[in-house]
Amino acid sequence: MLRGLRLKCPDCGQTSLYGSFFKMKHHCAHCGLVFEREQGYFIGALYINVIATESLLLFLFIAYYMTRPVSEDALYMILFSLALILPLIFFRHSRSLWLSIDHIVEPNAKRVEPEDG
Ligand SMILES: [Zn+2]
Repeated sequence: MLRGLRLKCPDCGQTSLYGSFFKMKHHCAHCGLVFEREQGYFIGALYINVIATESLLLFLFIAYYMTRPVSEDALYMILFSLALILPLIFFRHSRSLWLSIDHIVEPNAKRVEPEDG
């Protein structure tokens, strides 16, 4: 799970999952674990992303009513902005965490021949 939070291969932890900001690599160059799976595989990552975003918004909403540091209008503007931005920020981590969870459940996933081993 820590490898998932660090966006590393869930099996060996040697390779970054992403080649660019939003583009996930096809497989791990070190151990050959395939990252890109069949269509629909990352639907669980969507749930992780929604749960993380909504949990944070709920926490901020409750914290607001305990402290009331800004007006209610400002609160709604902040929460609305965060509701749009957080899923984009958390996108890579939610996919990485989903891949880690799947690796814990099914450690013998599809592999290709490693490139540097
Ligand atoms: Zn690997």
